[in-house]
Amino acid sequence: MSIKKLSEQALAKWVDKMIAEQSQEVFGIQAKGDRFSFEKLEQAKDLRLDYDVSLQPPKKFFQPPIETLLTFQVKGGYDSVTDDTKFILLGVHPYDMIALNQMTTIFQQDFYDDHYMTRRKNATIIACDVQTPSEHVFAATMGKAVVHEGYDILLTKTNGGYVAEAATEKGKSLLAKATDAQDVTDQDLAARQRTWEDNKNRLNKHELKSHYSYIGRLLEKPGVYEHPVFEEKAKTCFSCGSCTQVCPTCYCFSVSEDVNWDLKSGQRQRSWDGCMLDGFTEVAGGHEFRKKRSDRFRHRIYRKGKYVPGKIGEEVACVGCGRCVGACLPDIANPVNIYNQLIEDFGIA
Ligand code: SF4
Ligand code: SF4
Repeated sequence: MSIKKLSEQALAKWVDKMIAEQSQEVFGIQAKGDRFSFEKLEQAKDLRLDYDVSLQPPKKFFQPPIETLLTFQVKGGYDSVTDDTKFILLGVHPYDMIALNQMTTIFQQDFYDDHYMTRRKNATIIACDVQTPSEHVFAATMGKAVVHEGYDILLTKTNGGYVAEAATEKGKSLLAKATDAQDVTDQDLAARQRTWEDNKNRLNKHELKSHYSYIGRLLEKPGVYEHPVFEEKAKTCFSCGSCTQVCPTCYCFSVSEDVNWDLKSGQRQRSWDGCMLDGFTEVAGGHEFRKKRSDRFRHRIYRKGKYVPGKIGEEVACVGCGRCVGACLPDIANPVNIYNQLIEDFGIA
């Protein structure tokens, strides 16, 4: 473990050094109008570690919206395409880090996904504890307000700078380049602990009426699957897919093969898809097994609370980023509202 204190100036100098070295691309959280986005960082002063939430989660760096998996020759033969660019990602919030940890489990679980895993291994992730809670964040109620694994370095704002803790060899060698770093004091560590405790309480704009570990059991109760709340909420759903697009734990994709104009070669691509979209479950013969909007609506709620947690051995697959709440025009996407309705009707035990 390597842990240092960086003043604001020392942090800026360190980041500018990373960019100047050009050995890896550096992406960082930056302002886009009054919103925030992870983009290529040209200078440290553009970095906004005080951001509330990014428009898109950092999953786009690991599972791009569209990517080529392989190129092929129509008469036979193919070449796998793997993006092995090394990069640094700066400013990932704890809930997004936990979402990435979950995705990494998924992408190497049943089938080792070389495309995702190569990107994940080539990334150096500098996480940062939340300084400004977003309008809809509820990471605290989901137990995801702080993170202790997955990142290479964790930054935590304290009085007069940042505590920077390196958790991996990659992180240690990167942090060693912060030449103006100072030793941390007991006061710095105590301040960091206070930030963690505060965030466990204040990242709570929506609150579950039970502990999050109960959601899986709740969804298994007889009668929950048939509860009218799914039909009721889905009445105003546009099937636009915004809630799944912005979700850091949604990873569904579709795969297509396109032949080039020369009719001799082509490529296989995969692109983001989402269970809220009509047609997502369409199979050969035109059959669609979640044709009804309410079935799709319920499926997403079960994915977050039961199906994905069961698959990866976690208690919940919603990290409480709140993005779906802000992205949904009819305001029906908030999982907490659905779970609370079910808790009210089916009880806590
Ligand atoms: S379901 Fe909504 S709040 Fe939960 S992780 Fe996905 S986008 Fe964030
Ligand atoms: S729940 Fe909201 S965001 Fe999601 S598909 Fe329906 S209308 Fe769109």
